[in-house]
Amino acid sequence: MCHSNDLGDHLMLDGIRVAHCNACDFMFSRETMQAVAIDQFYIDGYHDQRHMDGQRVNATININVLRRFCPQLSGRSLLDVGSGYGFLLDKARDCASIAGVELSRAQYDYSTKTLGLKTYRSLEDLAAEDRFDIITLFEVIEHIPEPREFVLRICEHLKPGGSLIIGTDNFASNVVKVLGGQFPKWIPHEHVSFFTGTTLTGMLERLGPLKLAGVRSFTPWELQARRLMFSATAGRKGGKTYSYETERNVDEAAGYRFFPLRIAINRIWFALASGSNLNGEMMYIHTIKR
Ligand SMILES: [Zn+2]
Repeated sequence: MCHSNDLGDHLMLDGIRVAHCNACDFMFSRETMQAVAIDQFYIDGYHDQRHMDGQRVNATININVLRRFCPQLSGRSLLDVGSGYGFLLDKARDCASIAGVELSRAQYDYSTKTLGLKTYRSLEDLAAEDRFDIITLFEVIEHIPEPREFVLRICEHLKPGGSLIIGTDNFASNVVKVLGGQFPKWIPHEHVSFFTGTTLTGMLERLGPLKLAGVRSFTPWELQARRLMFSATAGRKGGKTYSYETERNVDEAAGYRFFPLRIAINRIWFALASGSNLNGEMMYIHTIKR
């Protein structure tokens, strides 16, 4: 992030080092795939029942975040980058126009054919002059090896005065501190940029075109439960040791655990548990283009 060479190892996960920059506190996976290989990974794969269920669950939260930061959607254009199957866009049809960007072919097909949503295959498919009132980036930036350049690129498609909303995990949150290396979102072959409230707001403010307009965070109840279990059993239950082999071999048709329960609770959990700070495990930042 800051091009310093003053790096330390934060964690070692199944052979992949998570580095910590001593100059700017940014954390990132080392020994990641080349950019082309990463794109191909998302284009060809990245489609199964677990992804679909997980995105349905996340959409119940993300629509709340969007409406909290941008209460008036009618008359405004929305671009969701990393739109997946399109569940968030489907809930934001009161916008004047909605569109997504999705690399995964299978998710793109569902978004366009099943939900009938305008979807681009990549940012390169947008016309240079395309501008939007609101751009959302939910659970995307942790997958991007060059987040600064990526956000600047996205800013080019934002109207002056337009909103960019970013949601990602907070790797300095209490749950991460308690679970340590057993926090389930350390998935270093997919998640390569690990932010905290400070490193994310710092990066956004230093970019130039964006000014901070609001923050929100909460801790998902599933992670609260894991943290309590982990503490109560002195680390025997609740954590999850990362293994690429195990990740690859999970039953992809099995779907998401407790899916109906998660949908039901999430509808109220964000309203109950979120606050105007960046202390929670999921953090959301609203920025406005100057
Ligand atoms: Zn740095």
